[in-house]
Amino acid sequence: MNNTADNNGTTKSQPQKKLLTQNSELRKEGIYNWTIPAFAVKLPDGSNFNACPQAGACAKLCYARSGAYRFKNVRAAHIRNLLLCRDSPDEWEKRMTEELQHKRHKGKWIRIHDAGDFFSDSYLSAWLRIMDASPDVRFYCYTKEISRFKRLVEPAETGNFLWCYSLGGREDHLIDLEHDRHADVFPDAEAVAAAGYTDQTESDLLSVLSESPLVGIPANEIPHLKKRQGSETFGSLQRVLDAKLAEKNIRAARRAFHLAS
Ligand code: SF4
Repeated sequence: MNNTADNNGTTKSQPQKKLLTQNSELRKEGIYNWTIPAFAVKLPDGSNFNACPQAGACAKLCYARSGAYRFKNVRAAHIRNLLLCRDSPDEWEKRMTEELQHKRHKGKWIRIHDAGDFFSDSYLSAWLRIMDASPDVRFYCYTKEISRFKRLVEPAETGNFLWCYSLGGREDHLIDLEHDRHADVFPDAEAVAAAGYTDQTESDLLSVLSESPLVGIPANEIPHLKKRQGSETFGSLQRVLDAKLAEKNIRAARRAFHLAS
């Protein structure tokens, strides 16, 4: 319980806010959700924090940086979540573990993040401990933290956790596009089908449960983002960025070689 002062200046107890929520989409499927802000965020103390360290092309097309996600109360709640798990990790882990023991979560799926990502090893490791302590609950996520997952999650073989690598990030090149389960965001459902990917529109859980590991997401109906994306996918846009970066590195290496010789 939190102690807060009411309008009369007296102190009263308030129930602590739940950490897991349900948005309208996920509620239909009985899925609970934990989230933090997307990408670069200005914190109340004036500092900046990147909650998606491996975001690449996706950052300019991110649904979680527009619309309802920008509402003051929504942003404040997401920032509160971030500060709790980043700055008071023990308290957050304890509260999350306790909340998950409630019977309403038994047999249910928890989607970790509809914005933000696993921003540090310690944050991801805390989630793995929470999952271990919650064997009756199932967890899933999309992530662009490919190297972190290959190092910490793939070897752990956590039985109640499934994930889907997500294209559009700076570590796309580490995804085995033939064998690793991964998702790409396409301009529309026709483009998903044409590429031979499984459309996850019917259920978000197809991201981790579809037979094929190739998962396609039609872009959200957000006009300015759809216009910016054009006929590309997040993956194809990232490949362009990667090629530009590679060219830049080659030019820099050539310059350094000429200077040294
Ligand atoms: S990683 Fe996800 S939440 Fe973060 S900027 Fe990219 S699309 Fe948005």
